[in-house]
Amino acid sequence: MAFSDSLLTAKALLVLAALLVFVPLERLRPAVRSPLLLTSLAHGREALRRLGRNLGLFVLNLLLGPLVVVPLTVLADRSSLGWRPPWLESPLAMPVDVLLLDLWIYWWHRLNHEIPWLWRFHLVHHLDEWLDTSSALRFHFGEVLLSALVRAAVILLLDIGLASVLIFEALVMVAAIFHHSNVALPAELERRLAHFLVTPSIHWIHHHARRRDTDSNYATILSLWDRLFGTRSPTPRTADLRIGVEGLRDRPFLRLLATPLEGRLCRDPRLRTLPASDGAAIEDPASGARGAGASDGGGAASRAARGARRW
Ligand SMILES: [Zn+2]
Repeated sequence: MAFSDSLLTAKALLVLAALLVFVPLERLRPAVRSPLLLTSLAHGREALRRLGRNLGLFVLNLLLGPLVVVPLTVLADRSSLGWRPPWLESPLAMPVDVLLLDLWIYWWHRLNHEIPWLWRFHLVHHLDEWLDTSSALRFHFGEVLLSALVRAAVILLLDIGLASVLIFEALVMVAAIFHHSNVALPAELERRLAHFLVTPSIHWIHHHARRRDTDSNYATILSLWDRLFGTRSPTPRTADLRIGVEGLRDRPFLRLLATPLEGRLCRDPRLRTLPASDGAAIEDPASGARGAGASDGGGAASRAARGARRW
């Protein structure tokens, strides 16, 4: 078996191990009430529909992997511009590569929020109104393709080895499963981890349905980038934090796929407020702000948690 094949297998096993740890843990020790634990039939159906949307998007991306993402990455790895400085050809190479790729993904994520046409793809990830391990798998295939394309350019420019890329990808997946998960960590452990890693309490603020917070906390693995570039939100995580996008609601699967092409978003790509006909205003307990929302009586995040416990 080639070295890259072994690494691919190790990556898949690591991701599977992370899911096997965090999926049960977020049900045994949830930070907010999980939709899958809701007892009413309507809430249960909505929880299953949402899980179907997240896993459906994941399956599309799984299919894209061997068809586009892997060949593109291997092609970039095999090409070289010869710009790599000699000091990077040392045992330090791999940690430095992972650090550079983590810095790259910070800026790529930030650009997905700041460049309107990129936001139309990334919006699909943010429209999720609950957060748990399945949120880490929910991305529009267009965003995955664009990300693979830009990352290939970075790999080519910095001459980053395939082993470093695969290790970075595995770390990103494990980090994403961890910081999207609905696990209530002991407060002291979370506080200590947050000094150097992106924890759920940091990343959940990024999914707060208030634009100022959505456009903050962009880091993926190391939490230092937000502090370094001034994008760390001061908002504390509370149990009643409304998750989603300010003024927008989650959509059915096919409409999620078509979201980047939506005319209304094309005309005004940063539009985050739907007309009042899309639903009644809903209260965000964390900010006191009101935004347009669906009147399904099942606003997932608004019914997620009771009380304003901080952790
Ligand atoms: Zn984001």
